[in-house]
Amino acid sequence: MKILFASSEIYPYAKTGGLADVSSALPIALKKYSNISRVMPLYGCMNTEKFAFYDDFSVSLDGNTYSIQVFKDEKKGVCSYFIKAPFLSETKRLYGDDKGDYKNNALRFGIFCMAIVQLSLRLNITVIHLNDWHTALVALFVKDLELGLKTVFTIHNLAYQGLFDATVLELLGIPSKYFTMESLEFYEKVNFLKAGIAYSDIITTVSPTYAKEILTPEFGCGLDGFLRQHQHKLVGILNGIDTISQYNDEINLINIKAKYKDDTLPLFVMITRLVAQKGIDLLIDSFSSLMQENINLFILGDGDAHITQKLKELAHKYENFYFFSGYDEKLSHQAYTAADFLLMPSTFEPCGLNQFIAMYYGTIPIVHSVGGLQDSVHEKEIKCGRGIGYKNQTKQEFVSAIKRALALSKQERKKIVAFNRHCDFSFHKSALKYLKLYKSLV
Ligand code: ADP
Repeated sequence: MKILFASSEIYPYAKTGGLADVSSALPIALKKYSNISRVMPLYGCMNTEKFAFYDDFSVSLDGNTYSIQVFKDEKKGVCSYFIKAPFLSETKRLYGDDKGDYKNNALRFGIFCMAIVQLSLRLNITVIHLNDWHTALVALFVKDLELGLKTVFTIHNLAYQGLFDATVLELLGIPSKYFTMESLEFYEKVNFLKAGIAYSDIITTVSPTYAKEILTPEFGCGLDGFLRQHQHKLVGILNGIDTISQYNDEINLINIKAKYKDDTLPLFVMITRLVAQKGIDLLIDSFSSLMQENINLFILGDGDAHITQKLKELAHKYENFYFFSGYDEKLSHQAYTAADFLLMPSTFEPCGLNQFIAMYYGTIPIVHSVGGLQDSVHEKEIKCGRGIGYKNQTKQEFVSAIKRALALSKQERKKIVAFNRHCDFSFHKSALKYLKLYKSLV
């Protein structure tokens, strides 16, 4: 059985969020048990110096032919293929710039999907593991062309669906019979994610609780009814992190913590994309209450210009709040290490990785208990992954969770940290669950 893991981002080649981390860690964990390789786009911003040329071919969409070049690289024993294609590879960033999403994203990722199909045939792939809307059309192409390949489709975040004007169907050579409610249509638009839901053999999402939540109107992003129709093939598998290669760095974490820590005030950190999902509104709402406590707060965040501006103003106003605007991998690791507590007041969270990284680094997470946060951070039960969780997304409950954290004695905090240090946050257990799914298809 040969597996191809297809994703729009893989760490360390290109990353905007947790998808890149998972696309790195899961195939590395699976490598021990299976013949797995990966494929992603080759973007204009990537350093391709070490890549080797592998293959070239062309794909055809609506009578237009696009030349594809495939490059190859190997990291941690997993081979990655990179698709160089017109439009797809001509952008500096992955999905968009300051003006918004790139206007030709439907074509960019449509070409990417058809190239994945061609590459899979050339590599004799048995199962293609697709991730999010960028790769979802592969499931449709495979069914439409009756190729007999098996597909697993993972939803990392239902809020991102790949919505486009109906005219893109023709551009992509997708027959109009697919423009129905049972297929790609979504309120007169084309919805790429629906292709993954409708045509893949198995759908997974990144935590058991999120798998239940997305079937409800509250979390279903307009697709709860559609997902309920396909519920028989939906499974929730909790994400993990790459504890062996990505976060270890052969350093003594506890020593590092002691070195960075100013012991006078507890340090709270938040490391996040600045989008509404991450609960920044609630944080801003609770700011004056928070700042009355004897704490230091550090936010490392990248994204929405309005939120950035607001946080800059708050940083100016409060001495015990520091804000670093931007995306900085190294700084994030230092912040996880130096902190006492990590804040994750996400309104919804499919899985979340920050809480795992934090617990691995000896930092206690304070989370809104939804989705994967509910499955991975436990306050009342003595279960792996200990932290603080609150149920309702209100200022009162959020501030009270922070007060519970501050009420923990040094001794109690040390106990939680030591307990978490012995938990397994790796992808090992979940990788075996994916393997079982792949095997069920052949
Ligand atoms: P999402 O994919 O929704 O952004 P996840 O919790 O799944 O959220 O993954 C977030 C990943 O991105 C983590 O590895 C986190 O450390 C990292 N990250 C988020 N924002 C930043 C930032 N501003 N700088 C550095 N790393 C960041």
